[in-house]
This record gives sequence, structure tokens and C-alpha cells, in this order.
Amino acid sequence: MPNEERRILTEEEKSSLLTKHKSCYICNEPLDGYTREEIEFDHIYNYADGHPQELNNFAPVHASPHQNKLNCHAGKGRKKPFDYREELRIKKILKKVHGLADLCQSAIPSIYSISPDNHHITFNGVQLPLYNQKIGEKDNLYFFNEVETRFIENDNEIQLRPLEDKILPLIFNLKASIQLLPSLARIDPITNTVKLFDGQHKAVAQIIGNNKEYLPCIVFVNPDVNALRITVYEAHTDFVQQRYKKSHIDAKLADIYGQKIEAYRKKAGNPQAPYSEAAILKGESASDIRNFILSSILKEVSVETDIIRLYAAESRKDQKQRPILWQSLERFIKKFCNLTAVEEPSESDNNYRSEEIDNLIFLLRQIEEHAIRNKWNPDNPESEHHKLARTYFYRTAFNNWVNTLEEGLRFTYEQMKGSKAWGALCYQKPFPPKVRERLSDITKRLFEHSLWVQESIQDEIAKTNQDSVVTAIFKREGLDWIYITKL
Ligand SMILES: [Zn+2]
Repeated sequence: MPNEERRILTEEEKSSLLTKHKSCYICNEPLDGYTREEIEFDHIYNYADGHPQELNNFAPVHASPHQNKLNCHAGKGRKKPFDYREELRIKKILKKVHGLADLCQSAIPSIYSISPDNHHITFNGVQLPLYNQKIGEKDNLYFFNEVETRFIENDNEIQLRPLEDKILPLIFNLKASIQLLPSLARIDPITNTVKLFDGQHKAVAQIIGNNKEYLPCIVFVNPDVNALRITVYEAHTDFVQQRYKKSHIDAKLADIYGQKIEAYRKKAGNPQAPYSEAAILKGESASDIRNFILSSILKEVSVETDIIRLYAAESRKDQKQRPILWQSLERFIKKFCNLTAVEEPSESDNNYRSEEIDNLIFLLRQIEEHAIRNKWNPDNPESEHHKLARTYFYRTAFNNWVNTLEEGLRFTYEQMKGSKAWGALCYQKPFPPKVRERLSDITKRLFEHSLWVQESIQDEIAKTNQDSVVTAIFKREGLDWIYITKL
């Protein structure tokens, strides 16, 4: 809605809305006892998203400044009224729900029969294929179905865990995403009910968040409950599926982004067609866009140098061998690179993506030169040099120096350029040789500051997990951008 003014309601219109709505649009509690000054009229579907400003798109909400009264208008903050209302509704339900048992109290018994050859099951009147995970001589029959919630109950013999905090984010995730895996259930031969024993969180999320009446389930037919209980327990402890390593996720994202570009070029009928990131990533959320660009920058750096392969650690354990934590690497790129979608086509002179990679690699090389080379030596972990290098790369230290370094480099770059560097420091024309020389000196000065070699400070840094502790050390010891840019 570019030029349209936000609609101001007249008193008459407000009155008519109050006649129509007796309760607050957001929390659904009555508006009784709230004066006209304690009520705001919200545009229900966001005006900013292009929803029309018709009167029926407005509704009254609590907006009392008094401590003991409701102020849903303020509580909403910058969230969309509809989203915030959903959030309150879900939180309210969750106060009363501790597990699937509260939502599916006792299931209606199912009627089922299995074909003599074990290939089919007729389940509540529907014939479905039956599968067998034969182990040794033992049959383990199961089928897949979207089972109506009234036929489902919680499996109190296997599923004992209450809901965990992760349920709330999961509910919001499943409101916008598909459910990748079904829940697991079994038919109990005594009650003939479907008992859900794994995937309770998904089930609850679908019922509360999406008002689903059918849940995708894999249903085992009369399995051995004891064996199943052990299997489920082990699956959640010893054999928890390996999480994807962060680098794998980044690689995957970069692939997806690459495919998007390819698809775009195919559509244009030219495999070299210039593209703009803004066009390719149109419709993606800001955080998805950041992730796509971040991952493709990481990929570029990996293709062009071995810095990541040599120095980036995938886990704390891996950090014994390689100095830079993956999250630190990402942080560095977030700090120095432009993670918004660029409008300029890929071939345009005003698109600095490839220059950005060159500038970034130059900076990473400086880190390598002044903080890693001839210092980092995992074969001799007790050496002073190695301890020094390790200190640089503790997460809390890194989080601090990356800021100091950026400030110092930016200041110098702007001074030498004679004007402000708008946007990310690496997303610029290539750093000229003279500038590179200075930036290298500044990086050197950062890592040669006397605080790094003091054993007591090394210990302090090693022990803390709070950035603010290291910030205080920098402050106390005088390590800031003024210091590192001094000639
Ligand atoms: Zn309210």
C-alpha cells in the first residue's frame, strides 16, 4: 500500500465496531469495564502486507495503561495481530495440556482385520497395505495411515515423557511447514485402541496449532511392548540420529540456492543469464535470505581457498585440531559481508559479490597470518604459541575482537578512501594494495596486543562463557579500535 494513508476511524465507526465485537480481538476476553480510552482499534490483517483498510478489517483490542488491566495492544508489539492472537490462544491451551493424554483422553476402539497372507489390513473400514519388518523369524507388521484423532490415545506404557518446552516453537514451525515424519503408534490387542508412543510433540502441535483431526501415523499391529519400550528408549538416548553438522547444512543451503539460480536461468533460456539475488530470493523471509547468502559465501570461500578446510572446527571437540569454531566463522561473515539480497544483476558493475569474496578472503588470510600461522600447533598443545592462538579463538574472545577489528578496519578504509563505506566492509570495490597493507598492519596490531600473552588473562578468557567478561578485559587493557589503528 505505497501511497495510501493509514485509515483513521471516526467515532461513529468505532462505536459500530464495539457493537459488533463484545470481546478483545486478541485475547478474546470481554471489553466490559474498559473505557473508550482503554481500547485501541487494530487493523487485523496487516495493513503493511496490503490488506484492505475496510472497516470490517478492524477490531477492538484491550489497551489499558493501568497495571491490573489488560493491554493486548502493547503486548502485541510488532507482531501481526492475527499471529499474536494465535500465540495467546496456543499458550492458553498449553497451560492445561501436559501431554497428548490431555487432548486424546480415551480412544474409540478401532475395528481391524488382517488378510490371511499378511499383505493387507482393513482398518476402520479402509483396506491398507500391510508391511513387515521381519527380524529373525519374528514378524513385525505395520501400516501407514492418517488416523482420526478420536481413534488415538496416548500410550501410557511406552510414552511417559511430558511435553517439553520445545513444543511451542514446534507448533509455530508446523503451522508453516509440512510434518516430515509421522508419529508412531501401535494397536493394543486388548483394548483395540491406537496408542501413540512416539512423536507426541508433533501430534500435539498438529492438534493445537493446526486443529488437525487426522494425524499421519505408522501403526504397528500388536507388537511386543517390552521390546518396543527398550527400542524407543534407546532411540532417544544412545542412537539419537546424528544431527547434521553445521557445515553440511550450509552446504545444503548453498546447493538449494545454486539450484534456484539454475532454474531461473533455465527459465530465461540462457545458462549464463545474469540474475539478481532480489529476484531469485523474492518471497523468502529475511532470515532465510541471510542463510542462503551466508552459505553461498562459505561455499565460494571453500572453493577458492583451503582456509575453511584447514581451520574451521565443526564442534568443540574438533576445535582441539582446528582453531575457528564454525559459529565464529559464520559470525565473521555476518560481520563483514552483505547478507541482504542485492538488486543489481550479477553482471552489473555495481554488484560487488565477487569483489566481496576477494576482500573477505584477504581478511581471512590476515587472520591466518597473524593469529594462526607459526602459533597454532595442536601437536604441542602446551606450547606458549599454541596457548596464545587458542586464546584468540575462544568464542568469547572472538566475539569481541571481531567487533574491534571491524571498527578499526572500517575507520582506516574510510579514511584512506576519503568517504564513508556504506554497508558491509567486504561488499566494496577490491581493496587497493595500499589499503591492504594498512589493513594487514591493523590486524597484526590486534593480535600483538599485550593482553593476549598474559597468563592470568588467558585463564580468565578460557574460563568465561560470557562475552561481557572479555569486553571488560578489552576495556581494562585498552584494546579497542583506536589502539589498533594507531600508526
Ligand atoms: Zn485483550
